[in-house]
Amino acid sequence: MALLARLLYDVQKLDLEIDAAERESQTLRGRFGETEDLRTARQASASREEERKNLAARLRSLELDLGEVEDKIKATEKALYQGEGQTPKELASLQKEDGFLRSRRGEIEEQALETMERLEEASRQAERLRQEYEKLEATWKKEQGGLQAELEKLKDQFQKLQDKRAKLVAGIHPDALDAYEELRKRKGRVAVALVEGGICKGCGVDVPPSQQNEILRGEHLVHCSNCERILYMETQ
Ligand SMILES: [Zn+2]
Repeated sequence: MALLARLLYDVQKLDLEIDAAERESQTLRGRFGETEDLRTARQASASREEERKNLAARLRSLELDLGEVEDKIKATEKALYQGEGQTPKELASLQKEDGFLRSRRGEIEEQALETMERLEEASRQAERLRQEYEKLEATWKKEQGGLQAELEKLKDQFQKLQDKRAKLVAGIHPDALDAYEELRKRKGRVAVALVEGGICKGCGVDVPPSQQNEILRGEHLVHCSNCERILYMETQ
């Protein structure tokens, strides 16, 4: 019996370590998955790339329009210079058409130039954002790998603690274990309190000498009169 409080105290040490390992494991699990930074960087990169594509498509379309207008201008010029047999009215109409086409060409060229400048800027930014995202992603992947390794280590540690605990509790009467578990639930995970300098370390209240002797005799479990915890004293 002298051993019981000590055994329970040792079980509690393991249980506190197991609790800590569980908390740590939860913290690690919480860090799995994408970060807000990574998501934001990916969205920024994707939306700039989208803009770049749209501008490139617009430029292609303007270049096609320009080609068409050029062809029409050539055809009109040809008609004007081979102008034999045309009435003055037909010639005037061709000249008007030529003027219209040339001003249309000017407009398209201006738009194409502006689009080209915007495309260059968008391409530069898209490239910069893509590189930023890739850098961030590489760091993140490395971190996630590190987390995985830490978690594996913790799992190992957890298993070892559980094995140790199983061996230890095998030598404890089930009733004593139940009492321990029940107290632990009610007393903030600490069921066994050490008595040091005549004081219960669970609640800070004095343990009278007669009770200290009772604990040292170890004939039965002694509970703190204030906090109800099982008292344990280390023999010198
Ligand atoms: Zn106490």
